[in-house]
Amino acid sequence: MYAINHAATSLLLKKDRPNVPILPLLISTQVVELFWVAFNYLGIEHFSVRDGKLHLDFLPYSHSIFSSLLLSLISYGIVRWIVKNKPLALPFALGVLSHVALDILFHEKDIRLSPFSETPVWGLGIISFPFLNFVLEFLYGIFCWWYFKGNKRLLAAIILFNIFDLPVMLASGKALDVFILYPAILPTFILLQILITWYLVARFSKSADENRH
Ligand SMILES: [Zn+2]
Repeated sequence: MYAINHAATSLLLKKDRPNVPILPLLISTQVVELFWVAFNYLGIEHFSVRDGKLHLDFLPYSHSIFSSLLLSLISYGIVRWIVKNKPLALPFALGVLSHVALDILFHEKDIRLSPFSETPVWGLGIISFPFLNFVLEFLYGIFCWWYFKGNKRLLAAIILFNIFDLPVMLASGKALDVFILYPAILPTFILLQILITWYLVARFSKSADENRH
């Protein structure tokens, strides 16, 4: 799933929690992806380009069921007992869990049960059908906005970022050669998307109270 819709998931967690700020919830939904970015820079995880298509291939440390549950439990403990923010602990842990739960719908079969064994491995593979991927992510992003009762600027940000992602979803063949030549471009591109979508959702969800639709 693309950055804007992971970010939109924080709106589901923020709703009915007026005392919990949106920024930590935004971060929670992308903790897993930040590990993926770091592990790709470090060469611990890697993607490939085969048959003119991008494959995420090896990401068992950031994106396995086991590591996702472990990270969620650890973050619950840190937020609850070290940061001592009890109201944030549960929604933060749920945000961490949401990442792989959503990715497993879209990814190819590349999400393992744990980093310790190659099987079983899951992924519904919606990513292989770019237009279906686009429509489902688009509808999900809108659903998060609608559930949150966000304002029009937030809706515009979600719609625009989903549309920006369409050419990336459709990218194939020679267009992907750049990722073979410069593998750091993909994690950098994803990191930038994470940061920009955090900013937009944080900024435009704030005025939601004064500006309900
Ligand atoms: Zn991911």
